[in-house]
Amino acid sequence: MPVITEHLQVPRVQPDAMAETKPFVAKAEFQEALGFPGKLVDNWQSVALDKMSELLGKYRALPVFLDACVKCGACTDKCHYYLGTGDPKNMPVARQDLMRNVYRRYFTVAGRYFPKLVGAQDLTESVLEDWYRYYHQCSECRRCSVYCPFGIDTAEITMAGREILASVGLGQKYANEIIGKVHKIGNNLGLPEPALADTLTGLEEEVEEDIGVKVRFPLDEAGADVLLVTPSADFFAEPHVDGLIGYAKVFHQAGIRWTLSSYASEAANFGIFIGNYDQMQKVAERIRQAALDLGVRRIVIGECGHAWRVAYSYWNTLIGPFDFLDTDYPAPQHVCEMTYDLIQRGALTLDPSANDNKIVTFHDSCNVSRGSRMGSIPGGQFTLPREIIQAVCNHFVDMAPETTHEQTFCCGGGGGLLTDDLLELRVKGALPRVTALKQVVDNHGVTHMAAICAICKSQFSKVLPIYGFDMDMIVSVHQLVGDALVFDSAH
Ligand code: SF4
Ligand code: SF4
Repeated sequence: MPVITEHLQVPRVQPDAMAETKPFVAKAEFQEALGFPGKLVDNWQSVALDKMSELLGKYRALPVFLDACVKCGACTDKCHYYLGTGDPKNMPVARQDLMRNVYRRYFTVAGRYFPKLVGAQDLTESVLEDWYRYYHQCSECRRCSVYCPFGIDTAEITMAGREILASVGLGQKYANEIIGKVHKIGNNLGLPEPALADTLTGLEEEVEEDIGVKVRFPLDEAGADVLLVTPSADFFAEPHVDGLIGYAKVFHQAGIRWTLSSYASEAANFGIFIGNYDQMQKVAERIRQAALDLGVRRIVIGECGHAWRVAYSYWNTLIGPFDFLDTDYPAPQHVCEMTYDLIQRGALTLDPSANDNKIVTFHDSCNVSRGSRMGSIPGGQFTLPREIIQAVCNHFVDMAPETTHEQTFCCGGGGGLLTDDLLELRVKGALPRVTALKQVVDNHGVTHMAAICAICKSQFSKVLPIYGFDMDMIVSVHQLVGDALVFDSAH
């Protein structure tokens, strides 16, 4: 259990500190459902090298990243998993080297003839095991790439590593099971349409009881203006569901006709975590289909970090074009963009004093910060959520600058690692973020931390109490919005 110190310390190197940590391997039925071999294939070495060759040709960044590193060391102390564990293989450059050494051995002239001179290494069973362990100790957060003078993105190497592992029969249980559920049922939870409808009816009753206004949570309503696609955790988990209530209140007060879809009831897209574009496309395709079937004019994405990255950065080529949507709005649009726009236009009645019992800070989620943008201004992904919070809360304090904006620290559970078989890693990986949080708690009396990512919210709900904070400290940004919205007879 790491100890929070006043300032974040770079740990002593502890070789193999996390060598025993790895997630469960996916069972055959879950592997095969995604088109991967059910178990480690006999000729795994040649299959892995063929896959690697394919990826080196397909993803142009991959060979560039493997060739460009000059071992300057700037990235070594930038990964939250290294800072939390001290395991040198969790230094970004060492994580890259696990693949780089094999790449050199089989795909460079020097490595083929003089392997020792260039640090080239055979792809042995122990190397494959290291790949499985340490490519599942990277949350693909891209923080290291911010500090690398060449912009080398370890996340891309991790994604390639996981894609190769899945291709030889070593997929990760957590991610692959979830992707299978989306293909079959439409969401990560495997929540069927009747259960979803029932949940939404329950939320309508709860909100009416709370504020006396019949705020609707519509499902499969053809002809609505907006299709809201949100992480399925928003339907039941805390604090996620309070965010969903917040979106519904915003739609209600702004008079926007909206709907959820039972066919595409999931914004999350774990295809990105396993580095597989075919899976990413198949998951995303359901959303395009639902938008066409329901005849909506806009698609709005709820609070989910990697879902927004996939939508913002990949959808256009994966499932575009979106020429059937209203061109007056971004396609897709983040729910924060929508709310920010409504606030700017004076379309919402807000009373920030409703949140006067809170002093709020904001956790920038990795995939939003370093993998996307928001609004039409550079850095909008940082300013929009903060301006929304400051419009609905009177007390806001940012954490230390080296831990926010593009330098933000991962919550410790991103990138497909939000599984209890990796709990030790998740707790240790959260250390840099909770250290920065403790500083604003001690110095400014911060009581709550808001986030716009379902994974961050789940991870913090689990690890904050382990570090001695209140579980309820983590809140959805749209919970703050929903609580500050004033409803009177006009609404
Ligand atoms: S992408 Fe994030 S988790 Fe992965 S090595 Fe870089 S800093 Fe660490
Ligand atoms: S900062 Fe970039 S070039 Fe330097 S060691 Fe890390 S990956 Fe290599």
